[in-house]
Amino acid sequence: MSAALPAVVVLPRPIPRSSLPIVSSIAGPAPGERWTSCALDHLHWGSNGGAGILFRHAPADVEPRYLLALRSRWVDEPATWGIPGGAIRDGETAEDAARRETIEEVGQLPAHRVVDELVQDCGGGWPFHFFLADVDSQFDAYSQRETDATGWFTLAQLRDLPLHPGARRWLDEREEARGPSRGHTSQ
Ligand SMILES: [Zn+2]
Repeated sequence: MSAALPAVVVLPRPIPRSSLPIVSSIAGPAPGERWTSCALDHLHWGSNGGAGILFRHAPADVEPRYLLALRSRWVDEPATWGIPGGAIRDGETAEDAARRETIEEVGQLPAHRVVDELVQDCGGGWPFHFFLADVDSQFDAYSQRETDATGWFTLAQLRDLPLHPGARRWLDEREEARGPSRGHTSQ
C-alpha cells in the first residue's frame, strides 16, 4: 500500500516496549470505553461518543497540511487514516477526552489554538466531537499503540488516502461547503 501513497512526510516510529508510557488502560477500559451500536447498527468505540483533535499547519501563503494518524489493526476501521481521537469516558468533557486521546495516539499535545469545534454524526446518532486546531509547526508526532504512523497531508493528498469514514465525511462536507470549482486555495 505504501507505494500508492503520495510523497508526504510520514513518521512511523516504532517505540521500544520498555519506553512506552504507563497508560491507564493497562488496568482495563475506563467507564465509557466500550463498544456500542448506533441506530444504523454500526459498531462504535465509546458509549458516550468520541472526540479528537484535527491539527492544521497553515502558515501564510502555504497550502495547509493536516495531521492524520494511520489506525492500527487493533482498532475499528483498521488501516485507514483518521483524525486522532477516541472514546469519551463517563463524566469527561469532549475537549478533555480529545486532549487525552491525542496524547495517547500521537504521543504529545503541542501548543495549539482551537479555531473550530465540530460534531459529526455517523448517520445513526453516534457523535464524534473534533476540534480543528492550528499549530505553528508540523510537529514530530510519533506512533503509539493504536496508531501505526502519522503524517501531514494537504487536502489534495487526503483525497487519495484510504480514509476513516469520519475523516472522509469531514473532507466531503468541507468541499461541498466550498463549492466545486474553487481549486486548492486555503481556508
Ligand atoms: Zn453509526
